[in-house]
Amino acid sequence: MTALTREQCLLLDQQDPLRALRDQFALPDGVIYLDGNSLGARPRAAAARAAEVVSEEWGTGLIRSWNTAGWFELPQRLGNMVAPLVGAGENEVVVTDTTSINLFKVLAAAVRVQAARDPSRKVIVSEASNFPTDLYIAQGLADLLQQGYSLHLVNSPDEIEAAVGADTAVLMLTHVNYKSGEMLDMAALTELAHARGALTVWDLCHSAGAVPVALNASKADYAIGCTYKYLNGGPGSPAFVWVAPALRDAFWQPLSGWWGHAAPFAMDPQYRPVDGVRRFLCGTQPITSMAMVECGLDVFAQTDMSALRTKSLQLTDLFIALVEERCRHHPLTLVTPREHARRGSQVSFEHPQGYAVMQALIERGVIGDYREPRIIRFGFTPLYTSFTEVWDAVETLRDVLDTETYRDARFHARGAVT
Ligand SMILES: *Cc1c(COP(=O)(O)O)cnc(C)c1O
Repeated sequence: MTALTREQCLLLDQQDPLRALRDQFALPDGVIYLDGNSLGARPRAAAARAAEVVSEEWGTGLIRSWNTAGWFELPQRLGNMVAPLVGAGENEVVVTDTTSINLFKVLAAAVRVQAARDPSRKVIVSEASNFPTDLYIAQGLADLLQQGYSLHLVNSPDEIEAAVGADTAVLMLTHVNYKSGEMLDMAALTELAHARGALTVWDLCHSAGAVPVALNASKADYAIGCTYKYLNGGPGSPAFVWVAPALRDAFWQPLSGWWGHAAPFAMDPQYRPVDGVRRFLCGTQPITSMAMVECGLDVFAQTDMSALRTKSLQLTDLFIALVEERCRHHPLTLVTPREHARRGSQVSFEHPQGYAVMQALIERGVIGDYREPRIIRFGFTPLYTSFTEVWDAVETLRDVLDTETYRDARFHARGAVT
């Protein structure tokens, strides 16, 4: 698809079957938001829902709301809304804790399953370019376990095959890379891992709500992911965790808190995990934040991942084509794969002054973000991003580069969060 005039982009917007969904998001005027892969936009419904949770459920219902407002069941109810977006079944997913914490739980569970099958498997294989928290959590678990556990990192997806062997306990991968936007072949890599006796852990932070995911069909073993990125759950909203049904009864995790107990209010001194997905929980959940997750998931219930994927690829194709055409005299290098099967819902370019270029764009209302080294990152959220916005964002980028506004000193000062 090439739409090389703004008029053609307007026409694409008029024909867009997902167009109406944008009205369900409260986006500020004058902003083109291309950072839904870092923090999703606010669903309009979230403001009223937050007021209801705080004033009525908490304010009036008080402790009664654990039963009367469905608070206790919320992790499972939301898990069942996430399930169809990631190819999981009913009662296989819960929303709880953070991605980092859930990763610790599933890695610990996977390592324990392997220790029972073949204690010589003590290596967790991952990519050096994986999101740092994933690597830190794996390092932390290996340090805690001692007894020779270690993390082995490869430098590119091509090296995974050679790295998975007789000593591999777990292949821990992020499905869509946060920096490059590269998507891995979940089914093929899971098959490879299984053929060599390893289990797989998939991080879906940049996949859930962004690309179709088929956990069960890919025969994956464990998965975790965020709700505050493409799922629009709100800043720091709780994450989700999935365990393959065949491994659920063997699921054991060291964060054995009372919410995973078979009878939490029996106040039994002995931990005894409940049957089913509640055993992935640890302790009391952040209900006010968790309640917002439902507002984001409600929007997904009005469409499906295949319609979203079609538009996502159209948006990213258009953005790549326009940048390469209209900014061709500038030193921008595409980092994201061109091949659809290997691309998530973001586009990253490298520019020698990437940080300053992004700050100048943000001042002009085009919000993406920056990742070391030199990478400017643009997330495309088919629920609310229009084709005309893609056009306008590229025109702003072209202007920032042509006029060299990014050279101004104020664009070089660093904030705590980039
Ligand atoms: C965003 C992201 C995380 C974040 O983890 P938190 O525990 O929510 O801070 C983890 N892994 C990946 C791959 C991510 O993209």
